[in-house]
Amino acid sequence: MDQQEEIQALEAQKEIERILDAIKTEIPIYLYAQPGQNDVFTDVAKQAIRFFRQLTDKIVLREFDLNHESAKKLNVEYSPTLVFDPDRYNIRWLGAPLGEEGRIFLEALVLIGLQKSNLGEQSLQVIKRIDTPRNIKVFISASCPYCPQQALNALKAAVEKPELISLEIIDIQANPQLADQYSAHSVPQTFSNEILIAQGAQTEELFMLSLDRMEQQTVFIPENDAEEVETDLVIIGGGPAGLTAGIYAERSGLKTVVVEKGVLGGQVATTPIVENYPGLKQVGGKTLVDIMVTHALEYVQIFPGEEVIGITPGSPIIVQTTRRKFLTKTILIATGATHRNLGIPGEKRLSGHGVSYCSTCDGPLFKGRKVIVVGGGNSAATEALHLHHIGIDVTLIHRRDKLRAQDFLVTNLVQNNIPILFDSEVKEIRGKHRVEEVLIYNNKTKNLSTLSVSAVFIAIGYDPAVAIATQIGIELTEEGFIKHDNYRTNVPGIYTAGDVSGGYKQIVTAAGHGAEAAITIFEDLINPYWT
Ligand SMILES: Cc1cc2nc3c(=O)[nH]c(=O)nc-3n(C[C@H](O)[C@H](O)[C@H](O)COP(=O)(O)OP(=O)(O)OC[C@H]3O[C@@H](n4cnc5c(N)ncnc54)[C@H](O)[C@@H]3O)c2cc1C
Repeated sequence: MDQQEEIQALEAQKEIERILDAIKTEIPIYLYAQPGQNDVFTDVAKQAIRFFRQLTDKIVLREFDLNHESAKKLNVEYSPTLVFDPDRYNIRWLGAPLGEEGRIFLEALVLIGLQKSNLGEQSLQVIKRIDTPRNIKVFISASCPYCPQQALNALKAAVEKPELISLEIIDIQANPQLADQYSAHSVPQTFSNEILIAQGAQTEELFMLSLDRMEQQTVFIPENDAEEVETDLVIIGGGPAGLTAGIYAERSGLKTVVVEKGVLGGQVATTPIVENYPGLKQVGGKTLVDIMVTHALEYVQIFPGEEVIGITPGSPIIVQTTRRKFLTKTILIATGATHRNLGIPGEKRLSGHGVSYCSTCDGPLFKGRKVIVVGGGNSAATEALHLHHIGIDVTLIHRRDKLRAQDFLVTNLVQNNIPILFDSEVKEIRGKHRVEEVLIYNNKTKNLSTLSVSAVFIAIGYDPAVAIATQIGIELTEEGFIKHDNYRTNVPGIYTAGDVSGGYKQIVTAAGHGAEAAITIFEDLINPYWT
C-alpha cells in the first residue's frame, strides 16, 4: 500500500467509525461454520467481523457449527452463514463479505443496528400493501458494482417488515451449487418465494413494486405527485461527463443536479482496470468512480437510482424522472452508451443464465470453466484478459481476420496464450436452462461448428443512449450520436457531452467535454444565444 492509499484507507475507516457511531443497540451476529467446508470464506467472514468490531462495540458475535441445535432451529445449512439479530429479523448472509460486498455488510449493520429501514416515502407506500410472506434471495458477487444497490433494497424491505419478509444474501462464489440450482448466472439476481423477480439492480421503488407484484417491474408511477425541484441545470447521467459537468457548473454558481438511473460512474463502474487516466497509472474502474463521485458530491447534488423518463422543452424545461419533476433552465444530456446485443437466437432467453455483458460482474462464477468472449475491440480484449486472469478458460471469437483492439492489448492476449477464433460468427447460443454450447459459422470456410461453453460474454460495442433525446426531436448525426455545436443541441437550452455526443470514447475525453459543456452553459445563461 503506498502512502496515498494508506491515507485513503484511514479516512475510509474514520468515516465508517462515524457511521457506526450512530448505532446505540447491540447487533447480535451468529456465525455458523463447519470446519472443512468453505474455510476460506469462513476466515474472511471472521476477518470482516473483527474489522467492524474494532470500530464499534455493538456487534456481539456468537460462533456455532452446523450441528448446533440453533442451526437446526434456524434452518442453517450452508457454511459459512451469518445470521443477523435472529430474535428481531430473518436476515442471513450465505458466504462472506468480500470486495464490493463490504458496503452491503456495513449497510446491514447500520439498518439492523438502528432498526430502521430508511425507505423513501413512495417505497413505504408500496411495501405497506404486502400482506403475505416473502422469502427473498439475492445472488451477489464480490466484484459486481450493481449488487450493493439491489442487496440494500432487499435489506431495507426485510428490516421494514420483519414479520413477513425474510432475506438471504447469497454470495455465488461461496455457494456455486445454489447459483447453479437457481440458474443465477449473472448478478445481481433476485428471487422471492422461489420466483425470479429481478435481474440486475433496480431503483428502490421498482424493487418494492416487483416484490409486491412478484414479477419484475420496469416502470414505477408514484402514487403522489412527484416532488418539484427548481434548478439552473439538470445533468442526465452520472458517468464521467455528467459528474465533471456537475463540478464545473456548481463551481460557476449554477444550481445543478445530476440524475443517474443506474450505477454512478456509468461504463467506468464496470471496467476492470483503467490505465490511461492521468495521475493514476493503474486504477480499478470502481475505485476511479468512487474518487470521482466523492469529489462531485463536494459540490453537486446527485439523485442516484432515478431515471429521466420525459423532457418537455419550454421555459422552464420540465424534466420528469421516476421520482420527481425538475423545473430547469437548461439540461445536459450525458447519457453515455449502452452495450450492443448480438441479436441471435438464445441470447435474450439465456441472458443472466450464462449470457453476460459484464465480465467484472459475472466472471467469478465461471472460474475453471470454458467461456467465450465475442468481439474484436478494446472492450472484448480487456474482458478476455480479465477473465483469463481470474482463472477462466477463455476463447475470443471475432468475425474479422484482425482485431480492432489497441496493439498493447493484442500483444497481451498473445503473451497470455488466449486462443482467438478469427473469421468466426456466433450464430446461436444453445442450452435448456443455461448456456451449454454455441453455434459458430466460419465466414471464410463457410463451415458450421459447435463449441461447448458455460458462458458467452458479449463485447461488440456500445450504442449511444439517445432515446430520451429523440423523444423531443433532438437531431442526431448520421452515426446516431447527438448532433451538437460546441455542446449545444438544436433545442435551445439543451446540451450534450460525453459518449452520447460522439468523438473519442474515453473517460478523460468525456470528463473534458463535460467540463467544457458546463462552461458553455454558464456563459449561455448569462448571454442566452437563443434570445
Ligand atoms: C468495458 C469498458 C472498458 C473501458 N475502458 C476504458 C479505459 O480503460 N479508459 C478509458 O478512457 N475509457 C474506457 N472506456 C470508455 C469509457 O468508460 C467511456 O468513454 C466513458 O465512461 C463515457 O462517459 P459518459 O459519462 O459519456 O457515459 P457513461 O459512462 O456511459 O455514463 C452515462 C450514464 O448515464 C446514465 N443514464 C443513461 N440514460 C439515463 C436516463 N434516462 N436517466 C438517468 N441516467 C441515465 C447511465 O446509467 C450511465 O451511468 C471503457 C468502456 C467500457 C465499456
